[in-house]
Amino acid sequence: MWQMPSQKIYVLFQASVLETFDVYRQNSRTATEAGGVLLGHVRGEHLEVIQATPPLAGDVRHRMQYERNDPAHQTIADLMWRQSDGETRYLGEWHTHPEDRPSPSRVDMNGWTHRALARQDGRATLAVIVGRVGLYVSLVDGAGETALFLECQSS
Ligand SMILES: [Zn+2]
Repeated sequence: MWQMPSQKIYVLFQASVLETFDVYRQNSRTATEAGGVLLGHVRGEHLEVIQATPPLAGDVRHRMQYERNDPAHQTIADLMWRQSDGETRYLGEWHTHPEDRPSPSRVDMNGWTHRALARQDGRATLAVIVGRVGLYVSLVDGAGETALFLECQSS
């Protein structure tokens, strides 16, 4: 669990989500970027991430590029939303970077801002980058403002 000191927003990642991140960590020299959507629960200001969709066949995956193009990510999100009576919803985006301590590119920031603007619930995008060592976690709103939760070391 991670905490943003100023506003005390907690983000809880279930173990299965961290396992998915680990599977796609770019630890080899040839591994391509991976990613998907983050699904889970909203508890007041707090977020509980219960699923990260894995990269799918229609996605664009290169050494330093990932585009979530496969429509099935959205299909999975819609399905989980319906099956949970709206409890489980879209929270944001994750993808990997071939760097130890990842930081977002301009393309990443623009993408997260657009996702936030597109959300009907008006919430910010939970944005995660999985690096080879660390994890970057932030919330990005429709104005491109970022709340940074952490840059941590994985054990
Ligand atoms: Zn990126």
